[in-house]
Amino acid sequence: MKANIVLLPGDGIGPEVTAQAVRVLESIARKFGHDFVFLSKKIGGIAIDETGDALPQDTTDACKKSDAILLGAVGGPKWDDPNAKTRPEAGLLKIRKELGLFANLRPIVTFTELVDASPLKREIIEGTDILFFRELTGGLYFGPSGTEDLPDGQQRAYSTAVYTTSEVERIVRMAAEAARKRRRKLTMVDKANVLEASRLWRRTSARIMKEEFPDLEYEVVLVDSMAMHLLSRPKSFDVVVTSNMFGDILTDEASMLPGSLGMLPSASLGSNGPGLYEPIHGSAPDIAGTGIANPLATILAAAMLLRHSLSLETEAAAIETAVKKVLAQGCRTADLAPKGTPTLGTIAITDKVLESLDKV
Ligand code: NAD
Repeated sequence: MKANIVLLPGDGIGPEVTAQAVRVLESIARKFGHDFVFLSKKIGGIAIDETGDALPQDTTDACKKSDAILLGAVGGPKWDDPNAKTRPEAGLLKIRKELGLFANLRPIVTFTELVDASPLKREIIEGTDILFFRELTGGLYFGPSGTEDLPDGQQRAYSTAVYTTSEVERIVRMAAEAARKRRRKLTMVDKANVLEASRLWRRTSARIMKEEFPDLEYEVVLVDSMAMHLLSRPKSFDVVVTSNMFGDILTDEASMLPGSLGMLPSASLGSNGPGLYEPIHGSAPDIAGTGIANPLATILAAAMLLRHSLSLETEAAAIETAVKKVLAQGCRTADLAPKGTPTLGTIAITDKVLESLDKV
């Protein structure tokens, strides 16, 4: 297969970890006979420095023409001035909007070798494998909002959660299709006992599941209960779908289960067109340039890219297996290792992944 992949390395450790994910993708291309063409473009702080814009037009154009996009991270203290005309994060928000990326996928998988790094007990989290679908372009973060001054000197502020039927349908469908390829269970999280917008989610989701996915196990959980269940029985979930704000909070809560930020990838997808794949961590300016950044989240994001944008499931699974084997061999970057134990740098741990891939 031939695929055009746009790289958006960004700032801080972004370029360091992206370069390692490219080495892994190149190895996959050689091993499985694919032709991946990489085109690197600017986003974030580096794009502001060079063009004054966090998302230059030629980056947007290249992304729109691509099959998939791999992003490192954006931001850093250099661009933190609150009075600045634009900020690196503006580039991220704009690219999601330009590409119509309405679904954010976040797999939460615990690696047996790393479970002791989690704040939760081994018996609770070992074997957890959840795929979250968070709606990304609607709801409370995008509905009408404002602040008004009241005659008595107080202020009144409001934010509104707004969803349409089709916005709910498309993400529930996407999540249910993913569940069909996994353990065939979908959990929809809402607050339908209180919120009108949640009642639309509940009705619409129930209809889609009954009409189009009667073969799947389907359950509905209130968001407050879900916050507890994620910590008490994370293994009982397969695919979880929810609205923008609930997803924002629950995925951050869930990201604590595996115990390390450096292992978690994410993807943002639209109805058609390229998907955007990235690690969930930021640009880690405190360790940028030191060669110790953990590239595994970005390498796992590359595996998601193969699975979701190029339909290369075998290749995606090969990367995930290689990463698991490297951890099983005891290889650790500094963020994963207990203090005083030997560690590998960004390039050295990727070398191990490549060795392991050769044997898959
Ligand atoms: P961060 O994720 O960059 O770093 C938090 C801590 O985790 C730091 O100590 C860092 O060294 C460590 N860390 C993160 N990724 C690591 C990796 N791969 N290997 C080893 N250690 C790792 O979050 P932050 O410090 O809050 O933010 C730094 C900058 O990144 C800010 O400018 C923020 O706005 C930006 N940010 C960008 C994104 C994104 O691009 N999607 C996401 C979050 C934060």
